[in-house]
Amino acid sequence: MKKEIIAGILLSLIAFLGYSGYDVIPIIIIIGMGTFLYFLLEKKGVLGNHSFGVAVNNNDVGFDEIGGQNPAKQEIQEALEFMRQLDKFKSMGIRPIKGILLTGPPGTGKTLLAKASATYTDSVFITASGSEFIEMYAGVGAQRVRSLFQSAKKQAKKLKKKSAVIFIDEIEVIGGKRGSHSSHLEYDQTLNQLLVEMDGMKSDQELQILLMGATNRIDLLDDALLRPGRFDRIINVDLPDVAGRLQILKIHAANKPMAEDVDLSAIAKETFGFSGAQLESLCNEAAIYAMREQSALIKPRHLKEAIDKVMMGEKAEKAPTKEEKKRIAYHESGHALISEIMAEKSVAYVTITSRGKALGYMRQTPASDIYLYTKEYLEKQINIALAGAIAEEIIFGSKSSGSLNDFKQAVKLARQIIECGLSGLGIIDNDSIPKQLISDEVKKIIKTQEGFTENELKKRISVLHHMAEILLEHEYISGEQLHQILKKHHDKEIRATAHI
Ligand code: ATP
Repeated sequence: MKKEIIAGILLSLIAFLGYSGYDVIPIIIIIGMGTFLYFLLEKKGVLGNHSFGVAVNNNDVGFDEIGGQNPAKQEIQEALEFMRQLDKFKSMGIRPIKGILLTGPPGTGKTLLAKASATYTDSVFITASGSEFIEMYAGVGAQRVRSLFQSAKKQAKKLKKKSAVIFIDEIEVIGGKRGSHSSHLEYDQTLNQLLVEMDGMKSDQELQILLMGATNRIDLLDDALLRPGRFDRIINVDLPDVAGRLQILKIHAANKPMAEDVDLSAIAKETFGFSGAQLESLCNEAAIYAMREQSALIKPRHLKEAIDKVMMGEKAEKAPTKEEKKRIAYHESGHALISEIMAEKSVAYVTITSRGKALGYMRQTPASDIYLYTKEYLEKQINIALAGAIAEEIIFGSKSSGSLNDFKQAVKLARQIIECGLSGLGIIDNDSIPKQLISDEVKKIIKTQEGFTENELKKRISVLHHMAEILLEHEYISGEQLHQILKKHHDKEIRATAHI
């Protein structure tokens, strides 16, 4: 409104001066430039009169819509009690919690937890991302922090709420260790302003404000943010375990027409390492596959295909030559065969259909979530990683560039063996041990496993040929099929031995 009045006064003044015979063109130019500069600075947030942060209506997000994360949910709910029972806490002389920091990998539900916290405490929910604060202009970040807190107060007043939850995603962008940025003055000022605002949050104010931050790089945060009285609670929001994955799948399957034979617990078992966001995407992709087929129901095969899509990407329209296809078939057969030898029924399936960057792939079914690895387990994984290239070498006399990622994986596993003190070097000090020593030990581990894998594949060369033939014809072998193939060859061998 103020802007309209000023514009009206200026226009009348120009009209009056023009009528009185003054040259108004320079005045118009000056006013025009001034207006342009004003809007530019306002847009960049240099002027303090715009509100920063987005108020989100989060009415429908409750803790019960967040799958898994039970320890995190419980801890947050306990921490939020101070907002719900302020008087009781005050009477005990307990100071309020000012900040809750959620740490963990992307897509695990940190934003959802913040939204649910606002619902739980009947607060307005204001959200902003760390990267939105920083501009090239000095002082903008600090101004935006101030504006964010003002905006929370304004929104709460407007909606007649007694509390506000401010959520800053990627908080490490503004909360990084002071002095660590090249343009550190701007970053330091922004963080200082955040600390000032946090220190100003008092329980006896009319409005309760809770700051929630999310990061997957807690190691980058300045110590001042993490001390008691600032972010009082640091809560880990990890990748879900199998029970958590099942709950998340159930949440995202609830509004989708699943066929009766869909077994979500089997899908949960197959998706070790998936985040909540990936599981949501899996359900969504499965529904898209079903719709493409004009199927009214989502069937198990749609979900299986969706797992591959989320893991590896969309099917690629690559057309390898006949020779390349043959090499890929032996390569993937090598991986699958060794995997099955190392652990029976560990192969979900193997295919030579290209997907994402992979020309073919073998998917394993983990028996259960594994959090601790023995030396034997890691060595077996090296065998499986190397088996593709070794199968190529046995059949074609040479390896190919298709094994690059397998080799990287094998080296990573070998390093893990060394760093965990499980190699011939014994327990080592990672920081001081000569690199050459590590490199020699990696080579040694890989060489030993190479020899072992080659031997195992050569012993079963007829199975390898059989698998490659099927793959070249049908592009796909299921885990069950592979199990049957191995059994058939084994029985044949026993019969042959008996004849001798
Ligand atoms: P980032 O660190 O990348 O910001 P985040 O941890 O904040 O990710 P969210 O934005 O909360 O993750 O989750 C993204 C989406 O993934 C959600 O909208 C939801 O659909 C799904 N999702 C993630 N975790 C869960 C969960 N625990 N339960 C149900 N859905 C989930």
